[in-house]
Amino acid sequence: MSPPEAPRSRGAYRPRSVEQRIVFLTGAGLSARTGAGVFRGPEGLWALAPEMEEAMHADRLPASLPRLWQVWGHLARLAADHGPTPGHYAIARMGAPVITQNVDGLHQRAGSGTVHELHGRAYTAVCMDPGCDWEAPLAPGEGPRAEDHGAPSQCPACGSPVRPDVVLFDEMLPEAAMREAAALARTADVLVAVGTSGIVFPAAQLAPLARAHGATTVLIDIDPPTGDFVRAAYDHVIAADAHEILPDWERTLVGGGGGRNPFLEPFG
Ligand SMILES: [Zn+2]
Repeated sequence: MSPPEAPRSRGAYRPRSVEQRIVFLTGAGLSARTGAGVFRGPEGLWALAPEMEEAMHADRLPASLPRLWQVWGHLARLAADHGPTPGHYAIARMGAPVITQNVDGLHQRAGSGTVHELHGRAYTAVCMDPGCDWEAPLAPGEGPRAEDHGAPSQCPACGSPVRPDVVLFDEMLPEAAMREAAALARTADVLVAVGTSGIVFPAAQLAPLARAHGATTVLIDIDPPTGDFVRAAYDHVIAADAHEILPDWERTLVGGGGGRNPFLEPFG
């Protein structure tokens, strides 16, 4: 006879103390209110603009570069104009490390010190020659040319084309970020997935990995997925707005603790 399943709640959950090692795993839902939207699902970018998804495959390079600049430059521009959300700020103020599928740099702008970006950086230009390490920050704008986003079309170091530093379909994820993410998952006391369906590789592996190593796993999403995978990966599923839940956690864990830390200013 198999042991009984661990009790699970689909309602309220709150980490017990800031001393717990909390690790966040974040996805597009956390940045959706910047106007960038989410990528998957019926309202997602890929459903609304299938030709954009076409352009996201690495085998379309370099012909797809104008589309890439258009899409990722636009997204980076929206994020830069909007700035971090209350959820980003709350995560930063909890001092927790972040593994993110987002490419907008908003965790760093909110003040998070440890951020592992699994899908790259839409706010950085890189050289397409894998042997060349030229890169430069972008000043994202609108348009199909690198110059529209503050980057040269050709690498100043070697003359190869320049692209946004995002991971396209069929491309390898950044090895160091993956390694660090797995290490964090293995050592977490609490792993909290926010604004991600959690069903896409590799993020889908991290919650089960954390859980197998003893972590409590939590999914916060306004419209969380259901099904066997979610039940198997998460101890708690909170169907709520992360921008309300996370600031509430932050106030409880670090904001009202009798002056244990300085994170008392209101959210920007
Ligand atoms: Zn180069």
